[in-house]
Amino acid sequence: MMAVSSLRICKGKQLFDEPLSKHTSWRVGGPADRFYTPTDIEDLALFLSDLPLDENIIFLGLGSNLLVRDKGFRGTVISLKGSLSQLELIEDNSLTVGAGASCAKLARFCQRNNLTGGEFFAGIPGLLGGALAMNAGAFGGETWPLVKFVYTINRQGKTFKRTAEDYEIAYRSVTGHSDEWFVSADFQFESGDGEQAALRVKALLDKRSQTQPTGLLSCGSVFKNPHNDYAARLIEASNLKGYSIGNAEVSAKHANFIINTGKAKASDIESLINYIQKKVKQEQGIDLCTEVKIIGEIDND
Ligand SMILES: Cc1cc2nc3c(=O)[nH]c(=O)nc-3n(C[C@H](O)[C@H](O)[C@H](O)COP(=O)(O)OP(=O)(O)OC[C@H]3O[C@@H](n4cnc5c(N)ncnc54)[C@H](O)[C@@H]3O)c2cc1C
Repeated sequence: MMAVSSLRICKGKQLFDEPLSKHTSWRVGGPADRFYTPTDIEDLALFLSDLPLDENIIFLGLGSNLLVRDKGFRGTVISLKGSLSQLELIEDNSLTVGAGASCAKLARFCQRNNLTGGEFFAGIPGLLGGALAMNAGAFGGETWPLVKFVYTINRQGKTFKRTAEDYEIAYRSVTGHSDEWFVSADFQFESGDGEQAALRVKALLDKRSQTQPTGLLSCGSVFKNPHNDYAARLIEASNLKGYSIGNAEVSAKHANFIINTGKAKASDIESLINYIQKKVKQEQGIDLCTEVKIIGEIDND
């Protein structure tokens, strides 16, 4: 690995060969060459501008939508867990939120301040940066319709202020400016009754625990729902509920979830994803696309 000249003055925490299984909700994934948690935006800018220009870089939230291959990630992972997590009311019903704030914390902050529209965030087990990158949503709500501005940073450490119009935004998909990463966003909510919002959150979370295998090692929905259909329905109709490869198993409770039932390897999960896609294509004639992002070095052995 190339030396990074002024890392001495970067104040964040830097680790080498850090197992990414410690940072993903499936608890799988090999090591990242370098793993950095910045202290603040200035520190992040300095760190990024010091990296070699050809360094692979990926930003990480809570790894709740990420499959990292067993051989790990050649490059630098920037973790925002415990960093850039500010949450502030800025003007009438608007908030500025750091990309490292958790979605659950954002939902609670809204309730306390009698703001509505963000209740769905309570059920998303990730950070705001991940929610922006994925256009996370649930129960009819989505991240981007609430965005006024996003603030991004590039590998030179330069920051930008952007709006939704600067991206192509669709269901669980955000494209554009792929050479920049989210550092914060301003959100517009509506004023309402915090207690009512809390009741709605409780109802949403109850519904979620009735229909999804919460509490087990998963990445939520593995596949995007195809137009006018449900990935879970198609997988179930292909008789794949409970099907397993190694310790990776199609959940018997919700067929669009893959569970790590013990010591699954990333390769078990990836093989199961490929198998599901093949079987659903054969039996239902539909191509399922992954919602989960897959990264890391391919094992050619
Ligand atoms: C039990 C369970 C239930 C779930 N339910 C839902 C649900 O209802 N709805 C839903 O939409 N999702 C759901 N998910 C998936 C996941 O929680 C969301 O996609 C979430 O937004 C991912 O956030 P994260 O911080 O964990 O992102 P990560 O998994 O860490 O990253 C996801 C992607 O975003 C990129 N990224 C992360 N941070 C940044 C940043 N700052 N700038 C640019 N790119 C970045 C990463 O590089 C990666 O490509 C669920 C997951 C689990 C485990």
